[in-house]
Order: sequence, then C-alpha cells, then structure tokens
Amino acid sequence: MLFDGDFFQVIPRDQGIIDLVFNTKNNKVNILSLAALNELGQAVKTIEAHAGLAGLLISSEKDAFILGADITEFIGLFSSPEAQLKEQLHRVHGIFNSIEDLPVPTVTAIQGEALGGGCELALTTDYRVMATNATIGLPEVNLGIIPGLGGSIRLPRLIGTENALEWMAKGKPQQADVALKVGAADAVVEEQDLRDSALDLLARCIKGEFVYNDRKNLKKGPLRLRPIEAAMAFETARGMIFKAAGPHYPAPMALVDTLEKACFLGRDEAIQVEMETFIKLSKTDVSTSLIGLFLNSQSLKKITAQATKSARPIKQATVLGAGIMGGGIAYQSACKGTPVTLKDIDEKALKLGMSEAAKQLNKRVERGHMQPLEMAEIIGSIKPTLNMADISTADIVIEAVVENPKVKMGVLAEVEKVVGDEAIITSNTSTISIDKLASSLKKPKRFCGMHFFNPVPVMPLVEVIRGEKTSEDTVNTVVACAANMGKSPVVVNDCPGFFVNRILFPYLLGFNLLVRDGADFRQVDQVMEQFGWPMGPAYLQDVIGIDTCHHAIEVMEQGYPDRMKFDGESILDQLYQAERFGQKNGKGFYYYEQDKKGRPAKVYNEDVEPLVKAVQAKPGEFDKNDVIARLMVPMCLETVRCLEEGIIASAAEADMALVMGIGFPQFRGGALRYI
Ligand code: NAD
Repeated sequence: MLFDGDFFQVIPRDQGIIDLVFNTKNNKVNILSLAALNELGQAVKTIEAHAGLAGLLISSEKDAFILGADITEFIGLFSSPEAQLKEQLHRVHGIFNSIEDLPVPTVTAIQGEALGGGCELALTTDYRVMATNATIGLPEVNLGIIPGLGGSIRLPRLIGTENALEWMAKGKPQQADVALKVGAADAVVEEQDLRDSALDLLARCIKGEFVYNDRKNLKKGPLRLRPIEAAMAFETARGMIFKAAGPHYPAPMALVDTLEKACFLGRDEAIQVEMETFIKLSKTDVSTSLIGLFLNSQSLKKITAQATKSARPIKQATVLGAGIMGGGIAYQSACKGTPVTLKDIDEKALKLGMSEAAKQLNKRVERGHMQPLEMAEIIGSIKPTLNMADISTADIVIEAVVENPKVKMGVLAEVEKVVGDEAIITSNTSTISIDKLASSLKKPKRFCGMHFFNPVPVMPLVEVIRGEKTSEDTVNTVVACAANMGKSPVVVNDCPGFFVNRILFPYLLGFNLLVRDGADFRQVDQVMEQFGWPMGPAYLQDVIGIDTCHHAIEVMEQGYPDRMKFDGESILDQLYQAERFGQKNGKGFYYYEQDKKGRPAKVYNEDVEPLVKAVQAKPGEFDKNDVIARLMVPMCLETVRCLEEGIIASAAEADMALVMGIGFPQFRGGALRYI
C-alpha cells in the first residue's frame, strides 16, 4: 500500500494500475469533509509521484460511492471571509485538476450514490462505470448554491448544456441507465461486476483501444457549441428554469448565467466563473436557510430513529371515522404495509372512504406507478366495518370521528373496552385538549394525539401530542407508527392549538386586524404570496374552510385570551354567518369555479365587499412591509413562546414542523430562522 489514511488508500495493482479507494475508517458512509479532501490531496500527490503509473481507478469500499460534501461544515465555511473561502476552493480544484491532468487513463467505479462533491470527483476521471443500482447527480440547488467543485463546468462539456441544466437546475439524482444514455456514464453493469468492468476498461485504454486523451480535452476545452446555438440554448433554458424556480430561489438561474459565461472558456478560466457564482450564492440568506433546513431535517430523522428504537411493533391498525381524514389515514397505512380496519357508524361513509381509496390507487396504476396486483393487495388490507367488535385486535387505534368532544370521549371510552390492554389509542383531533380526551380513558398513559394534515397522502407532517399522562412508550410507538406510514412525526406537548395551529392562528388573527383597519384582503394575499407563502391568508382560510377556521379561532381565543381575543366582529365572523364556508361550498373570500382540469379556481366577486365594509371603518393603503410585519410578528412571537414553554423541544423541530405543516417558505427556513 502506498498510502493508508483515515479516508483514502492508494494501492498499486498489476500493470501499473493504481487503486484510489475511498473507505472512511470511522463512518459507514463516505463524505467529502474538509479532512477527507485534505487527505485526498496527499493521496493524489502519492499517485502523481508513482513511477510506472499506467492508469487510475477511483472506487469506494462502502455501499455508496460518495454521498457528497459534508454539509455540516457549510455554514461555518460559507461565513468565513471571501478570500479564505476562495483559497479553500482553489486548493480542492487543484486536487481535482491534478486527477484530470494525470497523463494516464482514469476511471471511476460507482455503486450507490455519487452525489454533489462525489459526482464532481467522478467527473474528473476520463470514464465512469456505474452499477445498475447507482445514482449520480448534482443536487446543490436544493441548498441554494450551485456545484462548487467544477461540476457546472465538466458536466455540460460531457453531456451537453441542455441535459446538464436539466440535471443541475432540478437537483435530482439520475439513475445509471439515464446517465448512460446521455453520456455521464460509459458503462452500466451489475454491482458484482463493477470492479472487473472498470479494470477491463482501464486495461483497454492502456492498450490504446480508447483515446482517453479525447475525453480529457473534451472536459478541459470550451463547450463545443456554435455561438448561435449557445445563445438559443441559454435563452430557452432561462425562460423554463425561471418558471420552475420562481423568484425566491436564485441558484437555478445563476446556473444558467454561469454556464453561459463559461461557455467558450477553457477549464481553468471557466472554474473561476463557477467559483465567483458559488461564493456569491453561499453568502445569501437563501442558502443559509436551505442548508439550515437540511440540517434540521437530519436532526429530526435522528430524533425519530431514536424514538423508534424503543417502539412496539404495530401489526394491525384501526381508524375510526371514514371521513376526509379517516379515509386518508387508512389509505396511507395500507399503502405503507400496515393492514387497517376502517370503522364508521355510517355505511355510506364507509363506501365513500373505500371508493376514494380505490380512486387514488387507480390513478397510480394508470400512471404506471403501481401494478394492479399491488393495488388489489392494498385495497384488500383495508377492512371496512360497522361493528366495534372488529377492532379488538388493533395495536393502535386512530380516532378521526367528528370534531365534537362529547362524541369523541364516548367513542374513546367504548374503544378502550374493546381493544387489548396494550393497544395504543390516539386522536386526530385538531382542537380538543388531549388531556380532556384522556380523561375518558381508564389508562390515559396509552393515549396521545396523532394529528395528521389534510390531504393526508400529501402532507408530510404528523404532530404527535403528548398529554400530561401519556407514557414515553406510547409516544415512541406512535412516532414509529407515523414514520412507518411515510410521515415525519414531530412530538409536541398539549396546549390549545397544539404547535402548528397555535402558530398559524396568530398570523390569521393578524390578518383579521389588518382587514378591520382597512386593508384590502386581495392586496394582503398578494403581498404574502410574494413573501413566499404558497397562498395568501384569505385564500388559505377558504381552502381550510371558513367554518373550520371560525371554530379553531374560538378555541384559540379561549386558550390565549390575553393576546388572541378579537374585540367585536371580524371578517371571518361575517363570512361564517353568511355561510360562505370557502372552497367546500364554492364561496368564501373568493368564489370557486372548476378549471379545465376540474380543480377549484378562485375568482374575486365584489359581493363580498358589504361583508368587509361591515367590519371596516374605512379602507386604507398599507405599506407592504407593514402587511408582512403585522402577520409575521405574531406568528414568530408565538413560535418563540412555544419553544420557551417547552411545547416543542427544539428550534430545529419547530422550523421543520412549520415548513411541513403549513408550507412556511423554505427559502426563509422556518419562523425561528426567519427571526
Ligand atoms: P368528516 O366529517 O369528514 O368525517 C367524520 C366521520 O366520522 C364521518 O364519516 C362520520 O360518519 C364518522 N363518525 C361519526 N361518529 C362516529 C362514531 N361514533 N364512530 C365512527 N365513526 C363516526 O370529518 P374529518 O374532516 O375527516 O375530521 C375528522 C377529525 O379529523 C376531526 O377530529 C377533525 O378535527 C380532524 N382533522 C380534520 C382536518 C381536515 O382538514 N378535515 C385536518 C386535521 C384534523
């Protein structure tokens, strides 16, 4: 062995071939940390100095090639002075260029993922052989940056501008067969043949069967495009990419600019262009937020994994209530492999719940995402019933009947009589105190809230609400159950609104006050949509349901009378009394008509104005920043309160819950990051 480090080994093989193996000693995966990159520099120097070098193979001993750079180092690195960051990048480019400049053929063997910096390292070699299970890609835009180690320069030269922009602007990893088709990979083989195939390719290059220098020249030269072709390609890409990325995510458009500026430059100058853009983006709030969000999602995964360790297995679930939520929860459970009994008191509701599930599954079959047999199995694993005795074998019961405390408490008490002693009982209530519901049970320690969001198959968050008497075993098992259902659980403590609604409603109350003080709700919607929300507050309340919001606000007013009580009548009261319940009955703040695809499209109608006038002394103009502050400040303060009161355990979980539960703009990172 010529070099044996903590990350890399350099091993001489037959016929002058050197094996550069990435095999991190203290980790199950390979990540290009600063320490690993330093060591790579030493390893490459060893290779350059090796007499008789005839070829280089880069490979990994792990299940995956390289997962990417070490994102935990990004925030510190990016906040360092520009000159320091530039120097670091120069150093790594020097190492990568040295690999590319070796006077011998070079091949990377890729199994599992080759992402970000891992993909960029693979792009330095002349050829890439991929295992059928491998994926390759440059997902940097998801962190608000562009590839920083030459990826935005080498990839377009290898696979063409259009393909490279498609890969990089979407940031989606690509399968081996796709990589082969466009030329990012040169061969795709079964994993067990990967090494031999890569070595065979090297041997053939050494014999002169392939002109590897052509590859080096292709990657190091300008893009092989005529100026007119380049101009057209970039102009078309610009329109499409802006439409997809929107105004708040600058990285995809910066990619187009970088590729265009670097188009007719050789490698070293082109890299300077990439570096400038990379550094500029690395210093934006957007990248800080997106990196923060990524790290938060990692810590949430760790918290969930920890809870799951001591969870009990859930082999059979029961959902009570086959309505909008219950139907969705049963469908989700069945899709993820846990059989479920769906119990209602109304046969029509059961039929509707089952036909909704069948409709969703049919769509997946039609789109080719599911085989008919699988669909039949999933439908077969949902057992509809009107009979309470049928739920006796449940390991977990998820109650999703009407939002009425008396009904729910009656149902829960009845459930406890039927299920086994160890069964866990949960409620999907959105407004009723978990402690109050627990009082209907003999063993409240087995009970907690399990709050799904609508529509269940789409929304990733589940709030797991711990009551005063809930046991840790119950919390852990419900967390594991939600995770098994493909959801991201966040554990919170019981309080009015729990966590997510407690944060959302101060924002909506801020909106009510703004309208009272003269704001035009359409202007408020527009300002908040420009701020980054998927929909403005008036539109959002129409979608949630004016009646649902009205009820939730009553709960919040009672829970926090010092700061959430609205004096007099609000615009929400007006709409509620006029039975304008929003999308569900076709009119609320707006009217809803079906568009060509059968989806509700909002239309303004001035017949809402008398309702506005009834609560508004006189219309007024509001500065955009005032509108934002009057909605966001109450929301952010309430988030701080929840953290201080221990309703939620960490800032990471708080921000994640808001992004996943109410669509808090990701580029702002969550309410606490925004503050
Ligand atoms: P829904 O009115 O659509 O469905 C309720 C179902 O419960 C009906 O099918 C009804 O027949 C059934 N039901 C009533 N009494 C029952 C009983 N004793 N046993 C079994 N079934 C019974 O209501 P939904 O919108 O699905 O809401 C259900 C729960 O989920 C409520 O607690 C609600 O607050 C909560 N929730 C709703 C949403 C939402 O957006 N709809 C979001 C989160 C949470």
